[in-house]
Amino acid sequence: MRVLIIGGGMAGWTLAGHLLRAGITPTLIERVSEYSRVGFCIGLYPFSAGTLRPTGAYEGYVDQSLPVTTYTMCDGHGEVMQQMSFSEVLGRIQGFMGMLQRADLLDLLREGGDGARAAMGMSVTGLQQEDDVVHVTFSDGSTGDFDVVLACDGIHSATRAMLIGSSEAGLTDWGFTAFTWWTPRQDAVADGVVEYWGAGGLFGLYPLPDRINAIAGMPTPVGLGSMSQEQVVAAVREHFQGYPEPVQEALAHASDGTVFPWAMIDQKADRWIHGRVALVGDAATGFLPTAGVGASNAIKSAQVLADELGRADASAVPLALSLWEQRARPKVEANQAASRTLAKMMFVKGSTVAKARDLMLKHYPVDKVAKDVVKSNTEPW
Ligand SMILES: Cc1cc2nc3c(=O)[nH]c(=O)nc-3n(C[C@H](O)[C@H](O)[C@H](O)COP(=O)(O)OP(=O)(O)OC[C@H]3O[C@@H](n4cnc5c(N)ncnc54)[C@H](O)[C@@H]3O)c2cc1C
Repeated sequence: MRVLIIGGGMAGWTLAGHLLRAGITPTLIERVSEYSRVGFCIGLYPFSAGTLRPTGAYEGYVDQSLPVTTYTMCDGHGEVMQQMSFSEVLGRIQGFMGMLQRADLLDLLREGGDGARAAMGMSVTGLQQEDDVVHVTFSDGSTGDFDVVLACDGIHSATRAMLIGSSEAGLTDWGFTAFTWWTPRQDAVADGVVEYWGAGGLFGLYPLPDRINAIAGMPTPVGLGSMSQEQVVAAVREHFQGYPEPVQEALAHASDGTVFPWAMIDQKADRWIHGRVALVGDAATGFLPTAGVGASNAIKSAQVLADELGRADASAVPLALSLWEQRARPKVEANQAASRTLAKMMFVKGSTVAKARDLMLKHYPVDKVAKDVVKSNTEPW
């Protein structure tokens, strides 16, 4: 089967690794000519981490991750509203949840996909479907024919734009930006995630083995695009003044390196399948980071797709795509809904609404809000 994967991120390399093991050698093209180490922390839920086993990436994932033991939710003054033992939840669902740097996870997935025909610095400029073949034109002017094209080119998918004629359709801007940077480890955040939910702000500390990823979510400042790093750091510090000590310590390190603004945008494509072209991962359903489940869904969905394609021949591609969509889409969209519910609770602006939310959260555990994420581990895909 002739398979083209567009985009070498989480979903693309997962597909490559699993297709190779199913006896299919895919072609994978990636727009950037060289991967940088851009990106911060990624946590994988067990339903997704388990898919790393057949490609040999699992051991590296466990070695390079910090196991997440607890989740602590505080209000903006530091009062604990909820504390949850991840080991207890994970005991129920049998698995390991670790947090590692995105670039390290990508390296592991790429090693698993070693053997694919990969081309860096390449994109697609034309797609034309005819009967049972997709004619593709590449950015270097070359062409190729494929039985199936899998678009794993991320939340702003150019392939999706090409298919539906719009680069904006399906995108939702939540009006918030998460500013993120690395900060040294602190005793207050040993090996658990700690979040401070304030009014109009959320500050999270996500530990890795050697450092912490600080994420400060706040309404997108006016004129952000033209702000200097110094102005960004000053705006974030001002917004979170009055938050407790661990936040202040992380803020003190905001000027050590680069603070990266991450627009809180998600995406829901109406269609995942267009003939023999499928949208996969964020290109199909792009996540807010609020439930920390975006990469898990992209990886798991890609593995399910490789499973279906691995059992099909070229003539059965449409059926394989349809079976994949039936297995993956309800789960992925339920998890996206959980991320959105959490976003609505996190991104409240007024202090009265925040107080009402805090009262409710003292009695309503967050794993109940995100129950579909837990179910993704206990129900078949
Ligand atoms: C640089 C970067 C940093 C990130 N940092 C974090 C983070 O710190 N924490 C977190 O939770 N999530 C992060 N994410 C998002 C997270 O990795 C994804 O949401 C998730 O893993 C979904 O995976 P995906 O494979 O669908 O998309 P992605 O992992 O985003 O991969 C898409 C890939 O497609 C490539 N691409 C884009 N357009 C084209 C094109 N036209 N032709 C060919 N290739 C193309 C991109 O360069 C990228 O390699 C980051 C994503 C990126 C791209």
